[in-house]
Amino acid sequence: MINVTKAYLPDKEKLFRYIDKIYESAWLTNNGQFCQELEVRLKEYLGVRNLILVSNGTLALQIAYKALDISGSAVTTPFSFVATASSLLWEGVRPIFADINPKTWNVDPEKLEEIISPDTSAIVPVHVFGNPCEVEKIDSIAKKHKLKVIYDGAHAFGVKYKGKSLLNWGDVATLSFHATKLFHTIEGGAIITSDDELAKRIRLLINFGITGPDKIDCIGINCKMNEFQAAMGLCVLQEMDQILSARREIWEFYDSELRNNFQTQEWNAWGTKNYHYFPVIFSTPDFLISKQKALNENQINTRRYFFPSLDSLPFCEAKERLTNSNNIASRILCLPIYCGLNSSDQKRIIEILK
Ligand SMILES: *Cc1c(COP(=O)(O)O)cnc(C)c1O
Repeated sequence: MINVTKAYLPDKEKLFRYIDKIYESAWLTNNGQFCQELEVRLKEYLGVRNLILVSNGTLALQIAYKALDISGSAVTTPFSFVATASSLLWEGVRPIFADINPKTWNVDPEKLEEIISPDTSAIVPVHVFGNPCEVEKIDSIAKKHKLKVIYDGAHAFGVKYKGKSLLNWGDVATLSFHATKLFHTIEGGAIITSDDELAKRIRLLINFGITGPDKIDCIGINCKMNEFQAAMGLCVLQEMDQILSARREIWEFYDSELRNNFQTQEWNAWGTKNYHYFPVIFSTPDFLISKQKALNENQINTRRYFFPSLDSLPFCEAKERLTNSNNIASRILCLPIYCGLNSSDQKRIIEILK
């Protein structure tokens, strides 16, 4: 079976050497040496000022909302993984959806501004499939309306915008290090901010609000990453160049073969690519379903990312259905892309699609 993605497994010997060290120290969690080392390495690799490791990408979003005192409602995109909206609801914040740009599939800044109300306290955009949002426009809307911006950067690992990390935009950006993501720690995530005081507050929140041996300052929760996760992360990070070049080759082959047959994502001209996903748009939902079936009969498993559009989920209580998001969501399919997908399998996928 060829799946839409396959978790990257780094060199086993290398991982086992890290695990031997964990056994020697018997320090399994609570900001151990590998968590500390991974934070430093990721800050360098990504080019960001503060990075706090957490146990997954959904909690990264939840902690970001808490640390920034987000309440009432937040304006966001309906075209994303469910965690973007459900994390808001979980924190008692109502997601209000603005429609997306039908070419870039990112939230449309003009539509975002239209739905801002006195109740709104934040903007939560997503760099969908790693494609940078219109960050300058979103930034000026946020300043004008005095709103916080939290970017869900779960797909944007390593993406540069105008030569610098895309993740520097917003009050906070979050990452997911889930096994299926470009860079992973099995389960995991990170919170990124340029604000040192905010970073301090986040570190408190993820460890029960504890500030010293006998001192608890505020209500916190437990979102710590453990040493086994960090060891996996250190190993994967050392192999990022291989991961990226393998994905790039697959991505470019799909692009050259399918660009003329399918609508593909219009990429932000100032952004670099990270080759995380290869989504294509079919002319109709029925055509998509018939091709997905044909692929499936050939043991090729694709995924309808992101379907359904989040405004259609009853628990999101959206006032209206958003045209572009529902239209794209109903016709989009993500093709298999991962380090290790061989070219004969990829050719088979392309043949079936054509
Ligand atoms: C994967 C993902 C998340 C959630 O991350 P987890 O680490 O699985 O909790 C959030 N938002 C988006 C857009 C994602 O793709």
